[in-house]
Amino acid sequence: MAKAPKYVYFFGNGKAEGKAQMKNLLGGKGANLAEMVNIGLPVPPGFTITTEVCTAYYKNKQQYPKSLQKEVLAALAKVEKAMGAKLGDDKNPLLVSIRSGARASMPGMMDTILNLGLNDKTVAGLIAKTRNERFVYDSYRRFVQMYGDVVLGLKPVNKDDIDPFEEIIEAKKHAKNVKLDTELTAEDLKELVVKFKAAIKEKTGHDFPEDPLVQMWGAIGAVFGSWMNDRAIAYRKLYDIPESWGTAVNVQTMVFGNMGEDSGTGVAFTRDAATGENYFYGEYLMNAQGEDVVAGTRTPLPILKLKEQDPKLYGQLDKIRKTLEKHYHDMMDVEFTIQQGKLFMLQCRVGKRTAFAAIKIAVDMVGEKLISEKEALMRIEPDQLNQLLRPIFDQKEKETAVKSGRLLAKGLNAGPGAATGRIVFNAVDAEAWKKRGEKVILTRIETSPEDIKGMDASEGILTARGGMTSHAALVARQMGKVCVAGCDELNIDYSKHTMTVKGKVLNEGDWISLDGSTGQVIEGKIKTKPSEVLQVLIEKTLAPKDAPVYQTFEKVMQWTDKYRTLKIRTNADQPDQAANAVAFGAEGIGLCRTEHMFFGEGKIGPMREMILADTVDQRKLALAKLLPLQRKDFVGIFEAMNGKPVTIRTIDPPLHEFVPHEEKEQRELAQSMGISYEKVKERVEGLHEFNPMLGFRGCRLGIIYPEITEMQARAIFEAAAETQKKGVQVSPEVMIPLVGNIKELRHQEKLVRATAESVMKESGVKFKYMVGTMIEIPRGAVTADEIAEVAEFFSFGTNDLTQTTLGVSRDDAARFLVPYVEKEMYAKDPFEVLDRGGVGKLMKIAVEKGRATRPGIKLGICGEHGGDPSSIEFCHLIGLNYVSCSPFRVPIARLAAARAALLNPTVPVKKAGKKAKASRKK
Ligand code: PEP
Ligand code: MG
Repeated sequence: MAKAPKYVYFFGNGKAEGKAQMKNLLGGKGANLAEMVNIGLPVPPGFTITTEVCTAYYKNKQQYPKSLQKEVLAALAKVEKAMGAKLGDDKNPLLVSIRSGARASMPGMMDTILNLGLNDKTVAGLIAKTRNERFVYDSYRRFVQMYGDVVLGLKPVNKDDIDPFEEIIEAKKHAKNVKLDTELTAEDLKELVVKFKAAIKEKTGHDFPEDPLVQMWGAIGAVFGSWMNDRAIAYRKLYDIPESWGTAVNVQTMVFGNMGEDSGTGVAFTRDAATGENYFYGEYLMNAQGEDVVAGTRTPLPILKLKEQDPKLYGQLDKIRKTLEKHYHDMMDVEFTIQQGKLFMLQCRVGKRTAFAAIKIAVDMVGEKLISEKEALMRIEPDQLNQLLRPIFDQKEKETAVKSGRLLAKGLNAGPGAATGRIVFNAVDAEAWKKRGEKVILTRIETSPEDIKGMDASEGILTARGGMTSHAALVARQMGKVCVAGCDELNIDYSKHTMTVKGKVLNEGDWISLDGSTGQVIEGKIKTKPSEVLQVLIEKTLAPKDAPVYQTFEKVMQWTDKYRTLKIRTNADQPDQAANAVAFGAEGIGLCRTEHMFFGEGKIGPMREMILADTVDQRKLALAKLLPLQRKDFVGIFEAMNGKPVTIRTIDPPLHEFVPHEEKEQRELAQSMGISYEKVKERVEGLHEFNPMLGFRGCRLGIIYPEITEMQARAIFEAAAETQKKGVQVSPEVMIPLVGNIKELRHQEKLVRATAESVMKESGVKFKYMVGTMIEIPRGAVTADEIAEVAEFFSFGTNDLTQTTLGVSRDDAARFLVPYVEKEMYAKDPFEVLDRGGVGKLMKIAVEKGRATRPGIKLGICGEHGGDPSSIEFCHLIGLNYVSCSPFRVPIARLAAARAALLNPTVPVKKAGKKAKASRKK
């Protein structure tokens, strides 16, 4: 018989059965506890129940594997031996914590139980041992409260309800006429325990279990159960964590931070998680338990204060900080407890950070030789770069607001950036308001993991309590949300939906602004302005030397260029867009949608005349008016691109998109064209199509009305000649859309080449150009070998290719796509993330067939997927030459392309542009 897998891993006494690499099995927390033990850090002994148990538990109707009980008891015996204490012993009781720990960190989403092992008997043993009756009863009441909530389910029912245990505490404080929990005596706490147990029995029907082993199994079951709670499920969805990973459970000896003034607890990052600065960033509270810091119920002190308060302890912690960074080569997030002057590490994991911090830390660590450039690039998620491009407040407007007395308060600058929105006081409202199109600031006394969806729906998060490592701060940074935390001047009343500060009362729906970089909370709206990176690159209002964030960004961008093999182009149809994209590093234009140009100054009139013309001559007349206007557009673009390749697509959308549909506008058009309103109306109605995306559009327009393609080709080539004459190089690539048949392309190519010849003759200027096609319908992809006989390049139009491959309308899919993804019919929205299994397969066929006919064919993508990191990786894998995306996604695409190349170094890169071997029939 096959040996049963090992389900439980012990750690303690300087040796651990696990290690950091065993994250999949032991979860992040378990693997790192083992690793810390192995590198000699002080860790309280314990054991980890593997994630495989969780998976088996859910597969097997919530039953544990048979051998688990025996293994747990054996590991518990080892812990008891290491500690010289026993679970349930009334003289020398062992107390443990039971915590979750999945492969990826899910801060606060699952359950934790502390002080487990306390009951009416062990309490006496602990009092004798610690000689601190108050501490023991405080631990006991915390345990009963947590156990009652997490395992036995006594929780608030409605969003505005107070916690039932807090209600009992409040009543007690009221009766004793005290304000703080710390003012309650041992006797008061003892009474609270009795009251808590009675409330549990009354409201849940369960007895609080006195047997510590029953307690332990109850807690283990609750932690495994919490893998499936709503917030954990929501979090997994948000961060793409598969349900099949499961969580591990860690059972670990308790150490106490609340044993008096020589005890304490803290959480820290080895560097600043908001800005990336290299200093010890964290906070601690003396005489407190871990949950006090993380839950934000008391505002803790910055860790640098510990240096003054206890230099020896600080020195020890700082040494651990350096050991961890040297060992893990990363910024780490740690939890520690000081029990009567002795330091213990309770957790370490790679620290979550803002985009600002991610980039700075990666770049600094390369400088410190802790990591290589390649590792640095793998540390930065491409989408994080978005944060660096996000707006900041207009400094002048903010100063005016502050001077005029609108500064309400100052909290901790927990999540950088600028946010303006309307106050809402709970997560449910935040979601509902966002759905109505409102911008909201979620304003809470403190946030809890339940608030995760509401936080996601908000522009920014404001809390009255909690430090830089409170739940709100941590989650906000990870989401890239603006956050001001621990703003204790705010007096928030959930039941009245008001916030009082400095005597002012603000109501739900009032506007406030948060500066997450300074911690300021300001009344009313404040205008925002471009980020530092944009001020340097786009606005050109800031010099690089005065822009530290930009400098780091630029270094990363230079590294991406060293390692990527894909070229990055942009989709742009205006000179300013093109210039912005070049500033971001674009190496060409991958798609210039000429139809967008027709909506520019003075062009829509002649365009409409052209569309509504009755005869070829009338149409030519209108086209003649358009020609100089289009030519001017192209000159602007060629100049902005200064010799870089520019792919220009001939007209693509259905013509009805250009004509007016309102009577008033139709009458105006009739007048300007000198024809009757009825005639205009009749022509517009004639353009109606039931399914325009599959109708008269793309190359079909240029085939039925060749004079349109001729005019556009002429405008492109005349602009090329004119620009080249000025000494600026040009590299136009004319692209024919929606080709599914070689004959279509041949027809259009002939027109384009003939026009190029004429323009060269007329102007006396010789310029290079290419003719190619979009591959955006399945027939185009599967006949790519034929199409490549004519096309010098392919650009995958994956918007249409997705639409036509899946048979899903781009314009009508919104109604069912979200629920479809929720039901896991599609893994992702296929218009956002390329469907590798379907659309991707067609692309692969087209690449192979295209290259078979024309080995040097240039291959790119210009659908929206060209800016999506996962899709970019696919483009790298199938050997495209470039991706093209919107200007502001160019930095993201550069990084995604570099990461794709680093992750898949064996993909051969084909040089584009070599002469084709196959003969070209014309
Ligand atoms: C496409 O179909 O992917 C494409 C780029 O063209 P458009 O979005 O203009 O149809
Ligand atoms: Mg298209």
